[in-house]
Amino acid sequence: MSEIQNVVIIGGGPAGLAAALYTSRANLKPVVFAGSPPGGQLTLTSEVENWLGFESILGPELISKMRSHVEKFGVKIFDENVTSIDFAKAPFKVKSIDREVSAKSVIIATGAKALWLNLESEQRLKGKGVSACATCDGFFFKNKVVAVVGGGDTAMEEALTLTKFATKVYLIHRKDSFRASKIMQERVLKHEKIEVIWNTQVVEVLGESRVEGLKLQSVESKELKNLTVDGLFLGIGHKPDTELFKDKIELDEKGYIVTFDMLAREHLMYGKVPAEKVKKIQESAGHSPTSTNVLGVFAAGDCVDHVYRQATTAVGMGVAAALDVERWLELE
Ligand code: NDP
Repeated sequence: MSEIQNVVIIGGGPAGLAAALYTSRANLKPVVFAGSPPGGQLTLTSEVENWLGFESILGPELISKMRSHVEKFGVKIFDENVTSIDFAKAPFKVKSIDREVSAKSVIIATGAKALWLNLESEQRLKGKGVSACATCDGFFFKNKVVAVVGGGDTAMEEALTLTKFATKVYLIHRKDSFRASKIMQERVLKHEKIEVIWNTQVVEVLGESRVEGLKLQSVESKELKNLTVDGLFLGIGHKPDTELFKDKIELDEKGYIVTFDMLAREHLMYGKVPAEKVKKIQESAGHSPTSTNVLGVFAAGDCVDHVYRQATTAVGMGVAAALDVERWLELE
C-alpha cells in the first residue's frame, strides 16, 4: 500500500470496528489491523445480555455481526498484528509482518488482556488445566472440578460459565466481599454448584504435567491447605495492550493510553492531574477528547478506559475517535 491513507485503525474489537464504520461512512477509506486472532475480548465472552437491542447474544456472534456490518462499507480489514509504529512525524508508519501503511492519522483501539497471578506453576501449567477463558476452555472440564480466582464480574462470569460443564466450581477470593455487580453476585451466590472460598489466595498450582490441585493460603491466619481440582481459571482483571506504544505516546502508570478526555476527567473528578498539564494537553490535542499527546494519533476503548470497560462504552469511544479524526483531517 504505497499511497498515504487517511486513517489506520489498530484493533478489531468494538472500539476499532465502530471507528471503522464511522470513518468509512465519512468516505475516509480506513485501513484496519484487527490483530491475530482478531475480535478482542468479546470473542472470549459467552452470553452478552447488556447490548441494547439484543436480550442475549454470544460475544463471538456479536463481533462477527459488527465485522460483516463494517465490511459492507468496503473497509479493508487485515487480521494481522502490528509489529512496529513510527509516530515521530506525519505521515505515521504502521507495520505488520506482511505490510507497511503510511497514514495521516491513527486510531489506537488495541483493548486489554487478561491478567495472571504470575506463579511459576501457573505459567508452566497454562493450557494444561490453567486458563483465563472459561468460554474457550470450559468444555474440557466436563464432569470435572474446577476453581476460579477473583471477585469482579469476570470471575462471576467465568464461574457461571463453568457450571455448565463442571460438577463443582470453587470461587476463590482474597477478600470477604465481591466487587462484581449485584446481579452477577446473586447468581453466583445462589448457584448450587458454586462454593465460595473467602479471604484466600492461590499460592501454588499443584501437578507436574496437568493441574491436580491448588495450594491455598488464608489471608488472615496464613494457614496453608491443599484443594483437589482439575482446572484453574483466572478472572482477576486485565492489562491494556499498549506495549507497542511505550515511549511513543503518553501512557499512565498502569499502561493505559492518556487521552485529553481521560486526563480532564481525572483532573475534574479526582484532582489527580494538575490543571497546567490538562491545559498543555488541551492545547496540543486541539481540544479533541480522544486525542493522545501526539497530534493526529487518537485512542479509544479498553486501552484507554479503566473506568467503564464495557463493549458498549468502547463503541461510543470508537465513534468519538472517528469523529475527531474526521475533524482533524478537515483542518489540514
Ligand atoms: P476487576 O478489576 O473488576 O476485578 C478483579 C478482581 O480480581 C478483584 O476482585 C480483585 O480483588 C481480584 N484480583 C486482582 N488481582 C488479584 C490477585 N493477584 N490475586 C487474587 N485476586 C486478584 O476486573 P474484572 O475483569 O472482573 O472486571 C473489569 C470490568 O469489566 C468491570 O468494570 C466489570 O464490571 C466489567 N465486566 C463486565 C462484564 C459484563 O457486564 N458482562 C463481564 C466482565 C467484566 P480485589 O477485589 O481484592 O481487588
